[in-house]
Amino acid sequence: MAASSLVRASVAHGKLVSGCYTCDILDTLVLRHFINKPPFGRAFATTSSNTSAATASFSASQLQITRCPQDQLKGKPDPKTLVFGRSFSDHMLRIDWDETTGWSAPQITPFQNFSMHPAAKVLHYALEAFEGTKAFRGYDDRIRLFRLDRNIDRLLNSTRRLALPEFDRVELEKCIHKLVAIDSDWVPASGEQMTALYIRPTIIGTEPTLGVDLSHQCILYVILSPVGPYFKEGFKPVSLYANPKYVRAWPGGAGNAKLGSNYAPTIAHQKVAESLNLQQVLWLFGDDQKLTEVGCMNIMVCIRDSARQGRMTLVTPPLDDGLILPGIVRNSIIELVRDSWTDVDVVERYINISEIQSLVQNNNLVEMFGAGTACVVCPIKSIQLVNGDTIVVPTPEPEVSVAQRILKEITDIQYGRRPHHWARILND
Ligand SMILES: *Cc1c(COP(=O)(O)O)cnc(C)c1O
Repeated sequence: MAASSLVRASVAHGKLVSGCYTCDILDTLVLRHFINKPPFGRAFATTSSNTSAATASFSASQLQITRCPQDQLKGKPDPKTLVFGRSFSDHMLRIDWDETTGWSAPQITPFQNFSMHPAAKVLHYALEAFEGTKAFRGYDDRIRLFRLDRNIDRLLNSTRRLALPEFDRVELEKCIHKLVAIDSDWVPASGEQMTALYIRPTIIGTEPTLGVDLSHQCILYVILSPVGPYFKEGFKPVSLYANPKYVRAWPGGAGNAKLGSNYAPTIAHQKVAESLNLQQVLWLFGDDQKLTEVGCMNIMVCIRDSARQGRMTLVTPPLDDGLILPGIVRNSIIELVRDSWTDVDVVERYINISEIQSLVQNNNLVEMFGAGTACVVCPIKSIQLVNGDTIVVPTPEPEVSVAQRILKEITDIQYGRRPHHWARILND
């Protein structure tokens, strides 16, 4: 199906269902549906007005810990040669849920494989959502977690989108702190630029039945993977491929939830970009070719804004139509710049390819970069269009680069050089 008709179909569907494209409305509908409808409603039976939602959750106080025997602990890889997501720590967190019995006690166990029924819904209908965040070993050797509460809120949003059960965000946060504390030796030593322990919370629907329906069983689990310095070869700007036929998300879809099903269809497009010697896909949307995201990152465009007397303005697409994944780095950049930078404004609005072209012509494009947990910021040097034209994006010197300034501010918080409530010291 052509991208435009796919979009039209989704838009029409969106109108039919709710008249609104935002995930919030859908969430409300989905929730209301569950609460009113047994037997699924039982999971929420204790969430009535006179009991707290926490009683429908697991509790960190029930955590059962089985430590990996000393002689089976894995050797730590050299942070300098680490490839993202290939090595894992010694332990994992696992919490099972079943519609009849509810959430079971959280378990921290040695890292191990799952056994799963071949009909498990996740394997057929992609009932999966994930998160990505990091623990950092600071300059004071203390370990900090960066805005983990935000990741858990986003996981809860994805969980609702998949009609999987809710849980208490604070209880999951406590369990993750405990897991990281147990595997704290896996948080690479600081000093090596931007090493960290990547934290991957995941939820999967495991009911062993083939009906396209609610999963009455699921597993919430968390695994940890040490990551090396992102900018091994320095702060290297990337080249992008922008083909308007490639659509990542659409109104009424689930692009604003971190669901595995959003990523599988993008990999072939990424490979096309690589085959053209380009590094990432620039995801466009609509007939006017709005910029939405770059690879798995939010996009930031720094311009001299004629509507603001030529002031430097950071433009990033808005979250209100569900096309954009609400990145935590995106949000952090917006808040930092809005609250404490006097020389740059932030505006959440769409910007399209033809505006980028005219900004370049008028020398008003300052720089562009992706934003996400993996790299914090990733500078962009060019955009290749389908007609073969290439937009050359300015890449300012480090001393004047907005991206570099943001990288410094955020990593200062993450590694404890600047005390900030976004970085919580690990409580073990
Ligand atoms: C995860 C992700 C981001 C970045 O989110 P962060 O919370 O900042 O890491 C941006 N876009 C997409 C599509 C993503 O999957």
